[in-house]
Amino acid sequence: MSRKLTFFFLIVGIIAPTIGISYFYLISYSILPIDQDTFLEQNTLLSSTAIAIIILIALNTAIAGYFISQSITKPLRELHEATTELEKGNFDVRTNITTNDELGELSRAFNKSAIALGLMDEEHKQLEKTKSEFFSMTSHELRTPITPLKVQLQMMYKQYYGKLTTKQRETLMNILKNTERLNKIIEDFLEISRIESARLKFIFKKTDIRETVYETMNLMEGFAKEKNIQFKTEFGKLPTIDADPDRVSQVLKNIIHNAIKFSPRDGKIEISAQLKKEFIQFSIKDYGRGMSPKDQIRVFEPFYQVEAGSKEFGGTGLGLAICRGIIEAQKGKIWIQSIEGQGSTFYFTIPLKPIEKIEPIKVLFSPKFEIEKELKEKFISTLGPMGIAEFDELHINNEIEKDKILDYINKLKKERILDEKSSKDFEYEIIKIFGDKPSNENDELVEEDKKIGDIEI
Ligand code: ADP
Repeated sequence: MSRKLTFFFLIVGIIAPTIGISYFYLISYSILPIDQDTFLEQNTLLSSTAIAIIILIALNTAIAGYFISQSITKPLRELHEATTELEKGNFDVRTNITTNDELGELSRAFNKSAIALGLMDEEHKQLEKTKSEFFSMTSHELRTPITPLKVQLQMMYKQYYGKLTTKQRETLMNILKNTERLNKIIEDFLEISRIESARLKFIFKKTDIRETVYETMNLMEGFAKEKNIQFKTEFGKLPTIDADPDRVSQVLKNIIHNAIKFSPRDGKIEISAQLKKEFIQFSIKDYGRGMSPKDQIRVFEPFYQVEAGSKEFGGTGLGLAICRGIIEAQKGKIWIQSIEGQGSTFYFTIPLKPIEKIEPIKVLFSPKFEIEKELKEKFISTLGPMGIAEFDELHINNEIEKDKILDYINKLKKERILDEKSSKDFEYEIIKIFGDKPSNENDELVEEDKKIGDIEI
């Protein structure tokens, strides 16, 4: 903008004096002496003076224009930079435009809005903290009576308090199983509250990943044997890394446990660990029932269980949500690829170097996770089953950002994978998911579509 204004002043500075000086030149020209030599001499003097005056006036106007345009664009730039900071969540940002004009007023209004947003953010954080504390406190309180309850039920079942009929023992066994389930849910809640408040303990130490995988497999061996399931492992060249082997094992256990649960008898589970740039990538592949794209999107949601036959296996539906929390807290990624009826592969990554600060991760009500879910749905509805793999690729490369996804759509358009209209619709939906108002052009396009749709109906 500054360059445009300077250019404008330069042009005005050339045109105005040129016209004025030209008139002056023409008048002076008409009264020059007729004598040839004197005429030439005075004409040259006159024209060079006129040109010098024009250049001087143009330069002066351009310099003045430059300073005037700076005085307009500098505060605008300051406001723009402050808005960008605000967008990033920095509510301490303020503008310092002290002029007594509209820009000054705009600056004061901006500062007031930033203060109000900062207060709202503080309130929101306080509310989150209270929620987290309440959640953690109730889980602790609920766990306290469960342990003695379980012990007394077990003693009763073992007939320490007198002989029981078969029916009474069966009923007691049922109560014990439900108490066990309740205990598991409370334990999971406690783990979630730790993840959400970044209180999850990580003990990083030199870890041989192969050893961690083998130890976890050993723990699962009994359960695998019940269904005669074989484990197969594959390891790339792996360095010894600083990691928390217990947390790696916790995630592995949950995924392997599910893989066994949902595999047929005499099945096979393949576990691999490979070095991928700054991460170690694990994969756990089973040849079980797999799941539909719709279920793949929701499987890391808390309490989500795929309808068909999951309830019979018990479980809380919190296991994978906790795995996601443990992995994302260390800036790793977790995702799934699956084909219904053919099996599933779960992937997760952990960094080679432990991160300095464990991140709090929203597990129960996560706006980020909700956005990712919506995006994934949009990818599938636009690109079909390949949408999941495409989305995961962007996810692994940390490209789940509005601009990067729009670039990706543009690439699909250039490669003619999407036509003009589909890519515009896709863009429109993506912008909407990120909470922005799509441009009028897209609004019109969709409105037009609606009209066309109406006519077709
Ligand atoms: P839980 O196993 O306690 O129900 P999870 O969060 O571990 O909870 O898993 C959520 C749901 O995802 C399971 O109930 C099941 O429906 C589905 N699921 C997980 N792993 C697999 C798998 N390997 N194959 C098929 N379905 C799976």
